Amino acid sequence: MDYVLKTKDLTKIYARKAVVNNVNLEIKKGDIYGFIGKNGAGKTTTIRIIVGLAKQNKGEIELFGSKDLAKGREKIGTVIEYPALYPYMTAKQNLEAQRKLLGVKDKNRTNEILNIIGLNNTGNKKAKNFSLGMKQRLAIGLALMGDPEFLFLDEPINGLDPSGIKDIRDLILKLNRDHQITIMISSHILGELAKIATCYGVISNGELVAQFSASELKDRVKKCIKIKVNNTEKACNLLTKELGIVNYEVDKDGYINVFDNLDKSGDITSVLAKNDIIVQSINLEGEDCEKYFIELMEGKKDA
Ligand code: ATP
Repeated sequence: MDYVLKTKDLTKIYARKAVVNNVNLEIKKGDIYGFIGKNGAGKTTTIRIIVGLAKQNKGEIELFGSKDLAKGREKIGTVIEYPALYPYMTAKQNLEAQRKLLGVKDKNRTNEILNIIGLNNTGNKKAKNFSLGMKQRLAIGLALMGDPEFLFLDEPINGLDPSGIKDIRDLILKLNRDHQITIMISSHILGELAKIATCYGVISNGELVAQFSASELKDRVKKCIKIKVNNTEKACNLLTKELGIVNYEVDKDGYINVFDNLDKSGDITSVLAKNDIIVQSINLEGEDCEKYFIELMEGKKDA
């Protein structure tokens, strides 16, 4: 497995408080990693340490499988906090300034990036007159000038309207799929992240309380009908024979968990009863994704 980032026991102390507390992140090449936490949870500080804007008190960082961070940081791009743009310049002029600053020789790169970020039609409009979403896309464009393999976006959808959010989301997917850029994106807005993230890290009070892939999340929040009966084997056979239910499992506590036909609990009860099976309990279980994350972020749930 190729990891672009691993941290070990990363810790930052401000005013005698560990605002980043023994954080062990693992981000695989190709991931869109959603870094989720409430305001003040420690997201920005963690990212600032990784990209070299702050120094940890304890812990180690590995970028692209190496401890040579100077070299690793050459392959990363960052958009942290408020986008630093030249307000009196156009999108193109901002990108040109960045190109010259970084010594990128290929002059086509500016137009390429303008196309990628969808600002190729903004002509003479100055950055100060851009919407927040456009400013955010331009900031991402500036971060792309160094041709990064790994991009850090700190709260990129903060304050954006729904169409601005969609533009950023589409851009992130494009960068990831078409340009093979691994992306770490921090946010406290879960819903929007859930549409694109392939992996999640949840931070609460400086601690990484959970880290899982999107498919693990699906399992964790999977809804099911949970049934307890007096004859499990016979009940399972009846579910399949009488109702065509095959997507079920018997868990370690002897409950039958049915994962589809979630609207059929009435039929299930009646088929089982007709066949002399005593249904001790039958409930629809599972939770929604939003609730799951909120409980993790608030420390009400163990990962
Ligand atoms: P937000 O979304 O509000 O930026 P966050 O999850 O990014 O939240 P951080 O900005 O990392 O959180 O802040 C974590 C904690 O560290 C907060 O309590 C913050 O007040 C504190 N903090 C951050 N930077 C400093 C600093 N330079 N000096 C002192 N305390 C700081």
